[in-house]
Amino acid sequence: MARRLRYPPVGMLPICPICNYHVSALGSEMHEALITRGEVMGTDLKIAIMVPENCVLVHPGSCHKIAHKSTGRIKCAEYLIKHESLRPIVEWLTRLQTGMVTATEINDAKRFLRAGLALTRQKET
Ligand SMILES: [Zn+2]
Ligand SMILES: [Zn+2]
Repeated sequence: MARRLRYPPVGMLPICPICNYHVSALGSEMHEALITRGEVMGTDLKIAIMVPENCVLVHPGSCHKIAHKSTGRIKCAEYLIKHESLRPIVEWLTRLQTGMVTATEINDAKRFLRAGLALTRQKET
């Protein structure tokens, strides 16, 4: 995910959306922010969720735990909007909608996206 790298002084390491510190090569875990692995378990959508529109690198442990809670999911959504922009994320969600993800899961994802977008706009003003 070269687009998400931050250059010196911290070096070429992606930033953890939860704590805003860079992750290290060893200390990072892939997290699905909007649609999780558990939600598509047993379907062939597993690959469809491993996309830049849905994935972030977080610190293992407490950051990853927070990433699974509402506050963390909103932070991840804000991060994804910042780095991938809103439109491709919505397009990706729309493509999933015609697949096997339930309406509830899509609505949850959209709710987190809206909250993330609100955070983005707050910081702009
Ligand atoms: Zn972190
Ligand atoms: Zn996770």
